[in-house]
Amino acid sequence: MKISELLRSGRPTLSFEVFPPKTSDSFESIRKATEEIAKTRPAFMSVTYGAGGGTGHYTLDIAENLLRRSGVTPLAHLTCVDSTRESILERLGAFRAAGIENVMALRGDIPKEPRLPQERWAYRHASELMREVRDYGGFCIGGACYPETHPESLSRRDDIAHLKEKVDCGCDFLTTQMFFDNNILFNFMYQLRDAGIDVPVIAGVMPVTNASSVTRIIRLSGTQLPQRFKALVDRFGSDPDAMMQAGIAYATDQIIDLYANGIEHVHVYTMNKPEVARKITENLSAILGK
Ligand code: FAD
Repeated sequence: MKISELLRSGRPTLSFEVFPPKTSDSFESIRKATEEIAKTRPAFMSVTYGAGGGTGHYTLDIAENLLRRSGVTPLAHLTCVDSTRESILERLGAFRAAGIENVMALRGDIPKEPRLPQERWAYRHASELMREVRDYGGFCIGGACYPETHPESLSRRDDIAHLKEKVDCGCDFLTTQMFFDNNILFNFMYQLRDAGIDVPVIAGVMPVTNASSVTRIIRLSGTQLPQRFKALVDRFGSDPDAMMQAGIAYATDQIIDLYANGIEHVHVYTMNKPEVARKITENLSAILGK
């Protein structure tokens, strides 16, 4: 099923992100974890992609497995940085052959050590990949957006102008980078609508279930941490069980506040943890009518 249809159903949605293995050793354990997560019956599940494409076949394998064995709609991520046009067309062909109808079209982070010389890169920005996927035909296309501005952007205005280009190039919906303060998302939504971006926006929420991931999250996303969130990490960070409980409670609270304020679609970064998916689904059961 196309995700754009799911998002138009008029009901709130909860969906989950998983990541594929980097090597074959962990394939089975990750496959099982994603199947466990699928048992919670999310609206769809996204499967991330290693930039450059070296491990891209695992994205396909996990996404196809979710579709065939779990009956959950997959969203396969695809990055275009450091890639040739042939490799991207080949990947799209493989997605199509596997019955995958939804592609998250991303640039990917610029690699420190590219596999290809830059002159051979076929795409510089995600918008160019969107156009390629649109011209290929038949896919519903998602794109990334950044409520706290992409770290490389010159300004918020510039970032939103480029986002508009993505939508004009065929992006059917957007998923946000994680954020921990809902006011940041609400302000961002006003700015998107002002810029004429009217595709559905799915809010990305990351339940932080261990303290060490907080430092990594800030480094990767540059997101601001509210005082309430910092206090929770300071108080419970050294006790894994307590941190898991507090992190899930914080994310649940954040999601309920989003739904209550008119955000209809939420995507949870599960970090492949079935317990996170289960607890959050249980906490929202009546809200989601499950
Ligand atoms: P773009 O939309 O191309 O934007 C990147 C930067 O370029 C921005 O600053 C933008 O303003 C600027 N820009 C865009 N167009 C132009 C233009 N025409 N001229 C000048 N500047 C321009 N990474 C992975 O490797 N694998 C994944 O599976 C993955 N999944 C993600 C899912 C989500 C929901 C999010 C939010 C991010 C994900 N990422 C993933 C990270 C993403 O690849 C990085 O953030 C990357 O640096 C930017 O990708 P993008 O698609 O947003 O790029």
